[in-house]
This record gives sequence, structure tokens and C-alpha cells, in this order.
Amino acid sequence: MLAIGVDVGGTSIKSALIEIGDPKVAESYGIVKFHSLPTQARDGRDRIVANIIKAIEVFDWKSCDMIAVASAGTIDWDSGNVVFATNSLPGFTGLELSRVLSEYFGRRVIAINDAVSALVAEGFLGAGKKANSVMMFTLGTGLGASLLKSKTLDARSVVDTKLGHYKLYDGGRECACGEKGCAERYVSATALKKYGNENLYQLFNSNDILQKKTIGDFYKDFTRVILRAVELYSPELIVVGGGVIEMSEYWWQGFLKEYKSKSFTPIVCANLGNKAGALGAVYAMANGKFENQ
Ligand SMILES: [Zn+2]
Repeated sequence: MLAIGVDVGGTSIKSALIEIGDPKVAESYGIVKFHSLPTQARDGRDRIVANIIKAIEVFDWKSCDMIAVASAGTIDWDSGNVVFATNSLPGFTGLELSRVLSEYFGRRVIAINDAVSALVAEGFLGAGKKANSVMMFTLGTGLGASLLKSKTLDARSVVDTKLGHYKLYDGGRECACGEKGCAERYVSATALKKYGNENLYQLFNSNDILQKKTIGDFYKDFTRVILRAVELYSPELIVVGGGVIEMSEYWWQGFLKEYKSKSFTPIVCANLGNKAGALGAVYAMANGKFENQ
């Protein structure tokens, strides 16, 4: 069977044509074609929706069995409505994304959150496929932290823990959420660039004392956030993804040294890269339970 998976971010919309043997078998998912186009988010909601449609129409969607979309923003699992979106997708708050796309294509199209989608992909098809419960951290613009509680797939088993806004330092750095000292102000690509070096490659390879301290603090802060997650949710496995993982060869071993001195919970890097969003949406559509999509 054939499916189209779409991953909508603030900068680009990625779409994948995916061939599936048995939808329940991880090894039977294969990406046939992959496509990317600019979101043009600044042009507003109608343009973004038009570009999502364009990203689907680059493939022969009529011959596909499934169309599934992952998008930035808080999206209700059961309805596919965008409950809240930041300025990265202007006008998306309140958009009934699943319904709008289903009406346009004249068939069911599901919509879920992109961090949840990446978690579903890694949890069922990628680095976490053998674990019963998985906590995934995404180091990107912010710090995503989502939990797969069990290997059933419905509104109750996937949780956006919002640990990116866990208060790491009282009265610390200001966060876009209005609070101070949130974890993502210390543990994210944005924080590393702002307080370390605009060029992360240079930061991770620097001999400068201050930049080395930034890295050391990042290891400690990230470890603290993970310890909090373990305390709250006791996941069997931690998976770390996001843009910063693409540079894991420069920092992962150093981080592990710090992490393993404090925690016994196994931790691994995500392994599906920028394909996770599209794959997870399709896997969710094929295997998940939804009330209203
Ligand atoms: Zn915050």
C-alpha cells in the first residue's frame, strides 16, 4: 500500500511517498520519494494551507491509500484541530486542520502534532521500537519532550509533557512563554547558539574556556531535565532527536559521561532524522485510534 506523510514546520514543508507492506511491521515502511518546499509562513494561514496541499499534490495522491499530516503547534489528537500555534505558523491557532484537508481531498486526512509524530516514528519504527515506553526529547528551536506511555496508540498514550518549560533556574533567562528559567532557554539549539556560538560546529569544537563551559553546563542542565522526566514518568528508554543530534559525533560521548554518572535509564540518539515527522504521521494513521478524524 502507498501513503503520503507530510511534516509542516515554520520554515519548510516536507512530504514523503511511503510504501508499506504490513502496516503493523516496522521493517515494512520504506520511503520511495521525499520532497521539501518552503512554508512561506509569513504570508499567513491560507498560503501555508495551500503549500501543504501542494506538498501532497507533488505525488499521485489519488493512487495512495493514506494521507497523514504532522504539524508544529498543539494539535488535539482526536479532532486534528490546532489548539494553539506560535508565530512560526501565523493564523494556525483554531484551524481545523484535519477537517480542512479532508474536505479538500474528499477523503479522511489526519493531522497530529509534529513532536508527537516524531515520537511515534522513533517509538514504533526507529530507535525506540523495542521499548515499551519512550520519552523523546527534541533539541531544536525549543526543547520538545513527549512521552509514549505504552504501545497502544491513542489520545491517552501520547503525552506532550511540556518539560521544555520545566523551571530549571528560579529567576533565570526569560522565556517566550512569559516565565523565567525554563529548560529550553538552556537546553536547545537556540540556547546553545545564543549563549555559546552562533555556529554550533565551532562551539562543539572550541578550545575557548567560556565556550567549553557553555557545553559543560548544557550537559549538566540536559541531564537534570532528563532526571526530572524519569522521576515523573519512568520511561523505559530516552530518545534524543532534533537538529543538534545531527552533530552528535562532536558532543554525545561527552554528554553520556555526565548523564551516566547520574542515571541508569538507557538513552539513545534518534535514528530517523528529518523523515520522522512524515513517517510518524503515516504510522499513526495506519495504527492509531482517533475519535473524530
Ligand atoms: Zn518557558
